[in-house]
Amino acid sequence: YSAKDTRSGERVYHPEQDRNTPRRLALIGDLGQAVERRDLQVVFQPKVDPATGHVTGAEALARWQHPEQGFIPPDQFIPLAEHSGLIRPLTLHVLDVALRRCASWRTAGHDLDVAVNLSPNSLLDADLPDVVARLLHETGVPPGSLTLEITESSIMADPTRSIRTLDRLHTLGVKLAIDDFGTGYSSLGRLRDLPIDEVKIDKSFVQRMAVDRRDRAVVSSAVQLGHALDLEVVAEGVEDIETYAHLTREGCNLVQGYYVSRPLAADAFATWLRDHEVIPAIRVPEHFRAS
Ligand code: C2E
Ligand code: MG
Ligand code: MG
Ligand code: MG
Repeated sequence: YSAKDTRSGERVYHPEQDRNTPRRLALIGDLGQAVERRDLQVVFQPKVDPATGHVTGAEALARWQHPEQGFIPPDQFIPLAEHSGLIRPLTLHVLDVALRRCASWRTAGHDLDVAVNLSPNSLLDADLPDVVARLLHETGVPPGSLTLEITESSIMADPTRSIRTLDRLHTLGVKLAIDDFGTGYSSLGRLRDLPIDEVKIDKSFVQRMAVDRRDRAVVSSAVQLGHALDLEVVAEGVEDIETYAHLTREGCNLVQGYYVSRPLAADAFATWLRDHEVIPAIRVPEHFRAS
């Protein structure tokens, strides 16, 4: 626990601040068990092309319901997994579930893609491209329907080895996306040299763009830069129709956020799809269209 209590007197847990406390070690043990028993859930958040309203796919996000402590968010357990050697089995579990679900949507007649997040250590895993190739083969999902999301800072930890992994993944035909774009250090120059297909503008810029002119300027520049480099541009954290309309006008290729849907359990996603394959409710209203 952090040294400082909150105003209400409750103690706030910051895993990064307590390297080897009993609680941290116990959590790592529990996480290991959850991964081994395939007890981690995977939820799916739709991605929509705002120009047409078509759902094009979904991002797979890991969820951990701790037996005693309840829901623990990925921002807490992913770093734990990274630092304890659990990230490899965790990533493979998410990839496996995501690709199987994607295959089942496709069998049901929905031409959808799926995206999975990779953490820094995955990029140093020399086996990853072979494992991905095997899972694609087993599930029958076309390589171009899988996107792997990575952050710039992951690549920067060891650029030479990371880029080798990325090149091999790219050779398979898998798509690569830079996640949380705009929050890294190296952005502009490096983007040109990476084997990537997509940038995902970080939600910290997107969330407030409808009300903050400066965030709007950042998003607009990111869309233009992405397009100038022949990349698809995705916006995450789209929470309202105003933001959706702005992004449509900017020519953003895909949007993702609570406005379209929260991340959904696999069964709920399949049900949601039946009603929302095209989303009439988020067609841009006339009065937003004029620039
Ligand atoms: P991310 O990859 O950038 O995923 C987007 C996060 O934004 C998700 O949080 C999602 O639930 C949230 N989000 C989506 N739309 C909105 C919105 O409109 N408003 C707001 N406020 N938030 C929105 P989540 O699921 O808590 O995941 C947080 C991060 O944890 C992810 O960020 C990703 O970096 C990491 N993560 C999640 N699952 C995995 C995984 O399976 N493997 C790895 N390596 N990382 C994961
Ligand atoms: Mg992501
Ligand atoms: Mg992100
Ligand atoms: Mg993030």
